Amino acid sequence: MAETIRTTCAYCGVGCGVLAAPQPDGSVAIAGDPDHPANFGRLCSKGSALGETLALDDRLLHPEIGGRRVSWDDALGTVADRFRETIDRYGPESVAFYVSGQILTEDYYVANKLMKGFIGAANIDTNSRLCMASSVAGHKRAFGSDTVPGTYEDLELADLVVLAGSNLAWCHPVLYQRLAAAREKRPSMKVVLIDPRRTATAGIADLHLAIAPDGDTALFSGLLRHLFEADATDGDYINTHTSGFDEALAAAACFDGARVAAETGLAREDMKTFYRLFAATEKVVTVYSQGVNQSVRGTDKVNAIINCHLATGRLGQPGMGPFSVTGQPNAMGGREVGGLANMLAAHMALEDPGHRALVQRFWNAPRMADKPGLKAVEMFNAVADGRIKAIWIMATNPVDSLPDADAVAQALRDCPFVVVSDVVAKTDTIRHADVKLPSTGWGEKDGTVTNSERRISRQRAFLPAPDEARADWWQLAEVARRMGFGEAFAYGTAADIFREHAALSAFENDGKRDFDIGAYQDVPDADYRDLRPFQWPQGRGAQPAQKRFFTNGGFFTADGRARFVALRPSGAAMADEAYPLTLNTGRVRDHWHTMTRTGKSPRLSAHMAEPFAEIHPEDAARLSIDDADLVRVESRHGAAVVRALVTARQRPGSVFVPMHWTAEFAALARVCALVAPVTDPLSGQPASKNVPIRLERFEAG
Ligand code: SF4
Repeated sequence: MAETIRTTCAYCGVGCGVLAAPQPDGSVAIAGDPDHPANFGRLCSKGSALGETLALDDRLLHPEIGGRRVSWDDALGTVADRFRETIDRYGPESVAFYVSGQILTEDYYVANKLMKGFIGAANIDTNSRLCMASSVAGHKRAFGSDTVPGTYEDLELADLVVLAGSNLAWCHPVLYQRLAAAREKRPSMKVVLIDPRRTATAGIADLHLAIAPDGDTALFSGLLRHLFEADATDGDYINTHTSGFDEALAAAACFDGARVAAETGLAREDMKTFYRLFAATEKVVTVYSQGVNQSVRGTDKVNAIINCHLATGRLGQPGMGPFSVTGQPNAMGGREVGGLANMLAAHMALEDPGHRALVQRFWNAPRMADKPGLKAVEMFNAVADGRIKAIWIMATNPVDSLPDADAVAQALRDCPFVVVSDVVAKTDTIRHADVKLPSTGWGEKDGTVTNSERRISRQRAFLPAPDEARADWWQLAEVARRMGFGEAFAYGTAADIFREHAALSAFENDGKRDFDIGAYQDVPDADYRDLRPFQWPQGRGAQPAQKRFFTNGGFFTADGRARFVALRPSGAAMADEAYPLTLNTGRVRDHWHTMTRTGKSPRLSAHMAEPFAEIHPEDAARLSIDDADLVRVESRHGAAVVRALVTARQRPGSVFVPMHWTAEFAALARVCALVAPVTDPLSGQPASKNVPIRLERFEAG
C-alpha cells in the first residue's frame, strides 16, 4: 500500500490541503485532505487534476549554458561570476531577481536575503505584484501593516457577503463552495456581486451590479456617504479606533447618486438596494480580488472598501471585515519574507531605518538595501533601457504574463545576461535564457506556503527529484556561496531556512509588528516534517494562534488607530475614439496562468478548448461580428486573434479575453501583449482590467 502524503495544492491562494498517494503504476492518486481547515476535503477541478500534470515529458532536467548541457558547478559558477562582474562594474542596482508566487516561502526567503542584505539592492520583485500589490498598499495605508484581518470562516458567518471584482466560483472555487454551502444552510444570507461581467459567481448572487470598469471607488465612496446620512456609522468605534474620518467623509461628499451612477454605469435603484442592504446588515464581509487590485486606482479602491468597514466598526469580529483573496498559492508567503521590491523580511518596512538595521543585525549582512527597488513593470523597463544588465527569473513566464509582453520579450533578447530557473524546458521566457537551471516542481519540493487567511501549510515531496532538478533555495544558496557569502547561506534543508525565518519574525518583536511565528524558531526537523497547518501570528507562548486581527482596535500605526483615506473621484474613462472599447483580462475555471501545468491535462483543456473574446450582442451587431467568428483585438501595444463569444453576460463596451494562452498553444493569442504597462502609482500593480482596444472581424489572408 503506497504511503499517502499530506501536501498543499499548487494553484490558487485558497491553499487547499491535498492527499497525494503515489501508485505502483507511476501515477499519483489525489484527494482533498479532510483535516485541512481551508478545504475540509474539497478540491476543485484544477486541484483534482494535479496528478495529471506530473509527467516529465516537457521538463527541464539538466542545467544548460547557451543551449548546451553543463554541470551544476559550471552553471552556478557562471551565474555567480556574471552577477559579481556586473555588480563590480555597474553597482548592485544593475542586477535583479524576478520571482513568483509559485515558489515556496523558503525559496523566497533566501532570494530576498541574497538581494537585499548581501548584494545590497532591493531589485527583487514577483509576479504576485500582478495579483495583490494594491491590497498590500491599501492595508498598509489603513492598518499600518499588510494584515489580513479575517478568516475564511467569516464568509460563512456573515449575513451579507459582497464580492467585489472577484469571480470566486472560478478563481477560488473551494472558497466559493464553502460560501455556497453556508448559504444553502442559511438562506437568509445575502450575496452581492460587483463585476462588469455576469460571471459564474452570479449564480449565487441576490444582486449583481454590472459596474463600469474602475467604478469601484465611486461606488464605495457613495456608500460611505450613504452610511453617514442613514445614521449607520459607528461613532464610538470611529472615535476610539480610527483617525481621518471627517476628511474621508468630506471627500465622499461629491459622490452623490448622480455622480456614482455616472461613474459606475449602474441603475440608481440597484445602487440604493446595495447601500440599504449594507447599512442594515451588521455582519458584512467584503471579498475583493483582481477586479479591484488590477487598476491604476487599485489602492484607492481597496481603501474605499476598508473605509466603509471602519465607518461601521465591522472588522476583526466573526462574520465581518474586508477580505482580500490572493491569486497564487504563495503570494502571502512572499509578502511575509519581503519578496517585493518595497518590503523587508518578516513584514518589516524597507523605508523604516530601524527595521533595516534590525534585519541587517539579524542577518549579519555586509550591506542593506536602503531604498525600494524596481517593481515588476519598472524592472522590465529597466532591462529594456539597459539599467538592469543581469536578471534571474524564477518560476514565472513574464514574456506571456506581464503587460506589453512583446516589449518584455525584446528587453530579454537585448539583456546581456538572463538566468531562468524553471521546471519546464520550453516557455516564451526561457528561450531567452543564457543559463537555464532545472528546478524541482510540485510533489518534488519541500517547504511552506501561506494562503489568503494567513494559514501556513506544508508542501511536501512525495516524488524523487527527477534527474538533476534542484530546489530553488538550493540554487540561490549555492550562487550566494560562490559570490563569497557562504556562511550566511549554509542551509542543509528547507527546515533550516524556516527556523531562521521564524526566528527573524520574533527578533526584537515587542508585539508592534503583525507577523510573528516565533513559536517555530527551534522546531525540530521531525516536527517541521509533520507541521500541521496553522495561522499566524503564533509567537512564543501565544496559545492558540490568533484567528482575527483588530478585534479591539490595536492597529499597527504609530497611534494604534486605523486610518481612513480621503479619496478623490476617478477621472476620465480609459477608452477613447481610436480605441473605443475596453479589454478586461482574467482567468477561466480550469486553466492556471500560462498553462505550463494545466495545459498537460486533456480533462482541464476540454473546459475551454481555445481562447475567446466575450462581446456584448450590441457591440457585436455594430461591428458585424457573429458568434464563433474570428476577431482581431487590438490595443496600442499589440494584437491578438481569438474566437468571438457573443453573450449578454458581458457589459456593453467591454470585452473579456482570458490570459492563459501563449504562442505555444494558440498563435496570436497572447493577450498580455495588448495590456498597457500602466500601473497604480502606490502599488505598482498593472491595470489589466481596463485597456483601451478596438475590435474587428478577422479575415484570414
Ligand atoms: Fe487548488 Fe485553489 Fe482549487 Fe483549492 S480552490 S483545489 S487551492 S486551485
